[in-house]
Amino acid sequence: MAHEVAAAGSRIVARGVRPDDRREQIVATSDSEVDVVIVGGGFAGVTAARELSARGRRAVLVEARDRLGGRTYTKDHDGHPMEFGGTWVHPLQPHVWSEVDRYAVETETFPVLEGLRQAVVSDGRVVDLSDEDVERALEAFDEFCAPGMSLFPEPFLETVSSDPDGLGERSMRDLLDSFKAEPVLHDWVEGMCCLVAFGPLEKSGASEIFRCHALAGYSAAQAMASLSQTKLVKGTRELINSIAGQATLADIRLNSPVRRVAQTDGGVRVELENGETVTAPTALIALPMNVLNSVKFEPELSEIKRTASADRHAGAGRKCFVRVKGDIGNVSIVAPEDQAVNFVVTYTHDSKGSWLIVFSANPDKLQMSQFDDVQGMQTALQPLLPGVEVESIVGWDWSNDPHALGTWCIYRPGQLTKVLPDLRTTEGRLFFAGADSASTWRGFIDGAIESGYRSARDIDTYLS
Ligand SMILES: Cc1cc2nc3c(=O)[nH]c(=O)nc-3n(C[C@H](O)[C@H](O)[C@H](O)COP(=O)(O)OP(=O)(O)OC[C@H]3O[C@@H](n4cnc5c(N)ncnc54)[C@H](O)[C@@H]3O)c2cc1C
Repeated sequence: MAHEVAAAGSRIVARGVRPDDRREQIVATSDSEVDVVIVGGGFAGVTAARELSARGRRAVLVEARDRLGGRTYTKDHDGHPMEFGGTWVHPLQPHVWSEVDRYAVETETFPVLEGLRQAVVSDGRVVDLSDEDVERALEAFDEFCAPGMSLFPEPFLETVSSDPDGLGERSMRDLLDSFKAEPVLHDWVEGMCCLVAFGPLEKSGASEIFRCHALAGYSAAQAMASLSQTKLVKGTRELINSIAGQATLADIRLNSPVRRVAQTDGGVRVELENGETVTAPTALIALPMNVLNSVKFEPELSEIKRTASADRHAGAGRKCFVRVKGDIGNVSIVAPEDQAVNFVVTYTHDSKGSWLIVFSANPDKLQMSQFDDVQGMQTALQPLLPGVEVESIVGWDWSNDPHALGTWCIYRPGQLTKVLPDLRTTEGRLFFAGADSASTWRGFIDGAIESGYRSARDIDTYLS
């Protein structure tokens, strides 16, 4: 019997359990009843499935993994729901926040601000920051992002303004090198760039940090809050399962990687790795930009989409949860790009030990290839937390995960104007969704949901 993994409304079936299950599933949805095949069950695909259901459209959603959520992944470990991927949400992110409200999902402030020790690694030493220092650091961040105001004069509209100074072509590294500030503040701003880019700064478009700043009301303080201040108590899985639960006309099939998508005269034929096919008048491709080329499309996708997928976006960092000895306290420490670890924040702490969340924008600098390299992580953490003793590490290697091939979307210099409009442009009967091509909070859960709303609307209009 098929293994039901979520209740309420939609039918979610974990595939590949036994051959018999496949037969049962094929009978369950006749292709002639299907309006759209949705490829990918992250927030974009699942939101689109729910929105299509609300419009009376039937969908089959095929997801490669054994779970929904894609680059969000709540994993229970050591008694805690740990987010290996997307975590933070904020009221300034209108699409995700309306979903949080709709399903009454409980949120919490994280990290806890009371008693939070903030620090920056500068010139090889840890410099603690007073509240006044943090204020000055935020002012420096505002100053760094000031040129972006001309690039994003109306950040919640889709248009990017004209770009006479060529800012869209410049990297974060390029801008940082010409940014003047006292060393500690410069290192703090650089650490923030590492956190936003989550990839090498020379490969990360400066436009990406300007955009976050602009979307947060051109305020460094609000940008920081949007990026890393509020999380879901039970994890992102509660939200995605809530959305999936209302995709009442969607047949959600897990363990169903797609290998080929062919447009025919009358529709779209989607072929799975296991040889099954699903056909429908339309398909919604809700895949990460970096994996588009892993699926064979006939006819080929536009050259821009193929090139973007081959070039990849710059997001390629490493996030992990690190267990260390003793009570480390409530800390938030940033470090510039020459460090292997660029951000560390306490997840839990007591006298028995502490869990830290660790971010590295350049995992090549980490002297660890696997999550079991305790010694490598211990070495990498010393500049931020001298003397710290690492016990264990857990996390997910998104960059080598064939269904992600990267972390969150951060465009390379130039990709904003060259890639974005085409990435979500319909090709025949194929529609496109995903955080990587969202209009506003691109690269965020919010952007994925935004794209789910838009693509469902567009498909419904097309089919009407
Ligand atoms: C480490 C990390 C931290 C992050 N932190 C935050 C954060 O704090 N806040 C925030 O808002 N965002 C964060 N993000 C970004 C956010 O998680 C993503 O932008 C968003 O979840 C992407 O949603 P999506 O639906 O567009 O794509 P995805 O979630 O990638 O969904 C695409 C789906 O397609 C599936 N797929 C791939 N190939 C195939 C195939 N061949 N056949 C069928 N299915 C396939 C995948 O398995 C996946 O489920 C983070 C991401 C990472 C990796």
